[in-house]
Amino acid sequence: MSKSAASLPQTATKRASPAKLAMDRMGLRRPVDLALHIPFRYEDETQVQRLSPELSGQPVQFLGVVVRCEVGFRPRRQLQVTVQDGEHKCLLRFFNFYGNQQKMMAVGRALRIRGDLKGSFFGLEMVHPAVKPAEEPVPHALTPVYPTTAGLPQAYLRKAILGGLGRCQWPRTVPAESWARLGVGEEWSLGRALQYLHQPPPDSRIAEIEDRTHPAWQRLKAEELLAQQLAQWRARQERDAQRAPRLLAPAQVLHNALLEQLPFALTGAQQRVVQEIAQDIGLAVPMNRLLQGDVGAGKTIVAALAACVCIEAGWQCALMAPTEILAEQHFQKMLQWLQPVLRGQGRQVAWLVGTQKKKERDAMLAAVASGEAALVVGTHALIQDSVAFHKLGLVIVDEQHRFGVEQRLTLRRKLSQRVAGEAQAQEPHMLMMTATPIPRTLAMTLYADLDVSILDELPPGRTPVVTRAIANSRREEVMHRIVKQVEAGRQAYWVCPLIEDSEALDLQSATEAYAQVCEALGQLPCESVLHAANPPMAALLHARLSSAEKKAIMAAFVAGHIGVLVSTTVIEVGVDVPNASLMVIEHAERFGLSQLHQLRGRVGRGAQASACVLLYGGPLGPIAKQRLQAMVQSNDGFELARIDLALRGPGEFLGARQSGAALLKFADIQEDEAVLDWARDEAPMIWARWPEMAQAHIDLWMGSKSDFLKA
Ligand code: ADP
Ligand code: MG
Repeated sequence: MSKSAASLPQTATKRASPAKLAMDRMGLRRPVDLALHIPFRYEDETQVQRLSPELSGQPVQFLGVVVRCEVGFRPRRQLQVTVQDGEHKCLLRFFNFYGNQQKMMAVGRALRIRGDLKGSFFGLEMVHPAVKPAEEPVPHALTPVYPTTAGLPQAYLRKAILGGLGRCQWPRTVPAESWARLGVGEEWSLGRALQYLHQPPPDSRIAEIEDRTHPAWQRLKAEELLAQQLAQWRARQERDAQRAPRLLAPAQVLHNALLEQLPFALTGAQQRVVQEIAQDIGLAVPMNRLLQGDVGAGKTIVAALAACVCIEAGWQCALMAPTEILAEQHFQKMLQWLQPVLRGQGRQVAWLVGTQKKKERDAMLAAVASGEAALVVGTHALIQDSVAFHKLGLVIVDEQHRFGVEQRLTLRRKLSQRVAGEAQAQEPHMLMMTATPIPRTLAMTLYADLDVSILDELPPGRTPVVTRAIANSRREEVMHRIVKQVEAGRQAYWVCPLIEDSEALDLQSATEAYAQVCEALGQLPCESVLHAANPPMAALLHARLSSAEKKAIMAAFVAGHIGVLVSTTVIEVGVDVPNASLMVIEHAERFGLSQLHQLRGRVGRGAQASACVLLYGGPLGPIAKQRLQAMVQSNDGFELARIDLALRGPGEFLGARQSGAALLKFADIQEDEAVLDWARDEAPMIWARWPEMAQAHIDLWMGSKSDFLKA
């Protein structure tokens, strides 16, 4: 018997058919993948009824003999077949049909027919029923209907899955005592559960299968959650076995110098979190910490204070942001905060982005390699091959949810390789920051390897942003009100949505909005802020501008020269202009809840009262309506994240930032929280006592996916 046939890859066939390719695209490669592709519903072909007018209005399966088969033309071309069962007749209509179908339904043939029976003035009728020759045996199990894709016929997939199921062997990968603690009886082995779900007997309780409460489903969910918790436990062990530099700065020289020049005092939450981080990076085990704090909570200063410890300990710190605008802004802040002190020590703040001029870039790279650059701020240009750090001790990733899982993995791998010399054996500490809070259950499943710090207090003096949802038909009215306020000295953002897959359309809608704003302001649209004699009252910011142009626009906006900044979603993350107090989001119904909250977070950062207008177009669907309502009612990012998760489910919730590979297929972390708790408790024990089983279980369920859990 082979060790684990279930997890062996299938060898590629020589000439792959379109259906085979479609299966491949769906990730259905190994027999075990096929076996784990579960039907989403079932059809009951096991019962054969007698044709009768009393059954009309229901799905019916009956046996009948063809008494007439003709192609008719009224009201449109169709194949009309009349079949008889006992004293009753039924007319079958087919609007699309093939010659061989016509042959199969020739007069005199006996057929098994299944479809929705309708009674009309003319008698009984079925449109497009499923038809099989009567001699084909009636199935003994319910017929599974699988999720499929274009080019992959249900019948082909069904056969492939049955074949895969037959080839699978299920080694024992979970000790019996674990199952006993969960209370899922041994009678539901994985093999049996899958067999049952693919071919449920006719008497099975379909409702329980379809709502996933059946014991066979319970077993599947528990297996899956356990695999994931096992993988996370291992990731954590691996990390704990790694070495990192101990970053200690007992004198706190930099730290104190920075605090002294701040115009504000840290909040209690900021102080606590800075403490948590300092404690962690003082240990010889790499930190892996997620800092969650609502938009405007003040994460940047926390990052700077963490960098202070690292730099004072004699190591380099890297700060990575998802966009160039944000990287630039961080760079300016860090220069202002740290450069005065660093210069005295012959060290500096460097920065690296993709659009830099070669000369500047080379100078920066040299400073990074020599260690003269104590802090390096940048975009993902930081992880390119040409970048070599001297002694990298701490990596801070801002808006980490904007980086995909794969990018984060690369980051980790590359950064440990990018460190030269004797430091090579040591991993840098990692601090990730996000304003998109992750609900507890999700954090447990996806980020169990992370420690979490929470900034649960906003800086004092903030007035909550007042939010209104207004129909786009009142757009002009809104536009004029905004313009009046701007003329009175306030600053506003006007954000246009991303139009799926079309940068051009994107730009078009933003350009139109910009033209309207200019008209309302009584000025001409400005071609280039960079080359304008005076900064305009309004400017248009979008992704395709040169980075010098973007920089000039942001600088003029920060300085308060530009009153209205019309933009595509490039300003979504992180931008901090405290004087801006108005936010208009066009087609707000097209944004996700967390994105809306992020956008709104651009205002309400200063002491003055701020407002956010959600312009929506067209009749709203129920989900969009709930999203906008939630925005109007709540300013609390955690509350909104919970609502978002409930509205969309975890897959969608994480969609933008997770590749999906690490997501659960079967378990629902909200409904299955108890099973999740069980899996988390079992994982360390199984690893300790049965490491081979644990490994086999991960291989079986995750294949190569388990790597993603480390990101
Ligand atoms: P985010 O958490 O969204 O990244 P930022 O770090 O951009 O927030 O901070 C938002 C604004 O609040 C900034 O202008 C920052 O200078 C200011 N800020 C941060 N901490 C405090 C504080 N303790 N008191 C007053 N203002 C603060
Ligand atoms: Mg920020």
